[in-house]
Amino acid sequence: MRRPMVAGNWKMHGTRASVAELIKGLAEQVLPSSVDVVVFPSCLHVDLVAEGLAGKSVSVGAQNCATQGREGALTGEVAASQLADAGCSFVLVGHSERRALVGESDEVVVLKFAAAQSLGLQPVLCVGETQAQREAGQTLAVVSKQLSAVIDALGVDVLAGAIIAYEPVWAIGTGLTASPLQAQEVHAAIRAQVAAKSPKVAGKVRILYGGSVKAASAAELFGMPDIDGGLVGGASLNADEFGAICRAAGS
Ligand code: PEP
Repeated sequence: MRRPMVAGNWKMHGTRASVAELIKGLAEQVLPSSVDVVVFPSCLHVDLVAEGLAGKSVSVGAQNCATQGREGALTGEVAASQLADAGCSFVLVGHSERRALVGESDEVVVLKFAAAQSLGLQPVLCVGETQAQREAGQTLAVVSKQLSAVIDALGVDVLAGAIIAYEPVWAIGTGLTASPLQAQEVHAAIRAQVAAKSPKVAGKVRILYGGSVKAASAAELFGMPDIDGGLVGGASLNADEFGAICRAAGS
């Protein structure tokens, strides 16, 4: 039985004041003990969030890390070692916004994945197809290639200490959500790809769905057999909505 997880990606949002409000709202939520809850604030607010949520059952992650694991001469980057030191336990790698807007390739994603794991952080590997790729019938091939990049370079066993997030690009921040069946089809294909190398890892690895998840759509999505929770963007900025999504994962 895989433990459900709900992760909130706060993206490049928040001031110290608004983040403090959000933390306060989160601390007031009744969160199910059967669900792992993680929030990913901007790097600048990791400290604030880690301190503000200390003692609560909410972990903290970062949205990105450098390809190099430990600190060094790399202006503007943040090392996985620094994130771990600041209280992070997870890091997103390969989010579609970074793949598309910053030009992160599969090769870079693999380096970040390895850097994160070498410092004890759990990477959340984001994969997903664009609208054009879905319309061209390439969804499973695109997702499989993104996942293969990690498996081929690092071996399937690294996924035992990681999370996979399927996030169709056309559903991110658009209000469009993959239907539970559409999402399940891709999640099952991801698990089958992992199972072809290691049935044991496939049975364990958590695969989250991301793409305009709201409290109203969460329960049906999370009810699918291969959907182990959600990676939530916009809705995670509202503590009540995010709390309701977490409760949906626990029901
Ligand atoms: C995301 O950015 O990972 C995401 C899923 O965003 P949203 O929920 O806003 O679509």
